[in-house]
Amino acid sequence: MAERVRVDTLSADWQELLAAATAARAAAYVPYSRFAVGAAVRTGDGRIFSGANIENAAYGLTACAERVAIWKAVSEGHQDLAALALVTETGSSPCGSCRQVMGEFARELPVLIADTAGNAWLTSLAELLPLSFSAQDLDDAR
Ligand SMILES: [Zn+2]
Repeated sequence: MAERVRVDTLSADWQELLAAATAARAAAYVPYSRFAVGAAVRTGDGRIFSGANIENAAYGLTACAERVAIWKAVSEGHQDLAALALVTETGSSPCGSCRQVMGEFARELPVLIADTAGNAWLTSLAELLPLSFSAQDLDDAR
């Protein structure tokens, strides 16, 4: 069960990650939904990569903020993900596609979900995506 916390009581590491997600949210390209999302991921070596959602007139091409942040980290050689924060106006959860992408790189990823009013929920990928499909399933089939 996600633990509800006030943003101002979070650790300095979480506040830094959430600040990066909040800053990224300002760059969201959302002319269709007007639903801006910012995300930031901390890698195992302490680097932070952030992303915003990027929509397209062909809606299916839209990319979520979480995946943009993760793809930025991975495409720059950082596959070891240590934590992820995301922020929306209402504190929305990551979509299923983003949960699956997170799981590719970090099965036990700590996740912070925040709204813009100072509320946050601490959870984990294990809680958000139980019994997920993974590379282990491919190995088991061989
Ligand atoms: Zn998503």
